[in-house]
Amino acid sequence: MSRERAKLVVGNWKMHGRIDVNAGLLTEVAAGASALQNDVYVGVCVPFPYVGQAQALLSGSVVRWGVQDVSAHAHGAYTGEVAADMATDFGSTYAIVGHSERRAYHFEGPELIAEKARRALDAGLTPIVCVGETLEERDEGLTQEVIATQLDAVLTVLTEEQAARIVIAYEPVWAIGTGQSATAAQAQEVHAFLRGKLAAKGASVANVLILYGGSVKPENAQELFGQQDIDGGLIGGASLKSKDFLAICQAAQTVLQKAA
Ligand code: PEP
Repeated sequence: MSRERAKLVVGNWKMHGRIDVNAGLLTEVAAGASALQNDVYVGVCVPFPYVGQAQALLSGSVVRWGVQDVSAHAHGAYTGEVAADMATDFGSTYAIVGHSERRAYHFEGPELIAEKARRALDAGLTPIVCVGETLEERDEGLTQEVIATQLDAVLTVLTEEQAARIVIAYEPVWAIGTGQSATAAQAQEVHAFLRGKLAAKGASVANVLILYGGSVKPENAQELFGQQDIDGGLIGGASLKSKDFLAICQAAQTVLQKAA
């Protein structure tokens, strides 16, 4: 997938959903996404128990599915953990790693997250590596430093070939679930910084997709996705409503059509 001509929109359901509600949502997203051009890639990352349901309802559609975390371990006596290749047993494509909610509530540090990204790649998954600063860090002028530390921890453990297969999601913590998105200019500034860091790892890594996440809605998606280094979005709350999620996918489509 060339980032010049493609956008990726991935839903992060977080700990939402029940089997009956999911059925409607997955079916509607699959139906709506079928109308998109094939340069807009769409995915949903669901809670672990529903990965099989996503596989059953999305197989044969253009929508890919995945998980919101994986273990840093391959297999073994790690009660409650889920191995990356268990996710691939159910046809998963994506694994979110390092979401700020895991960093904050489960005390996941940069090295652990890097190991999770490596395990995901080993299993054939595409890790969506989340990075982002808190409001305090931004106010203190530490945004680039914080994000660089988070990204470097991952890039350090990956070969260039592996690094070229990840996706990054820039998710400012203050924008997640708050209704207050970063402005397009704020997001672009950080994405350009991330792009520079990726390029330093190798030419093939420079084109890694960088998604923006944090209160993306149908109303702001087009402006965000129209920025030079924003390759799509990681969508939380709005991914739980098919109409909103599909409108965000459509915004990605519109940006690509305008650029053509
Ligand atoms: C997220 O949790 O990854 C996210 C971006 O959430 P929201 O879109 O609800 O801000």
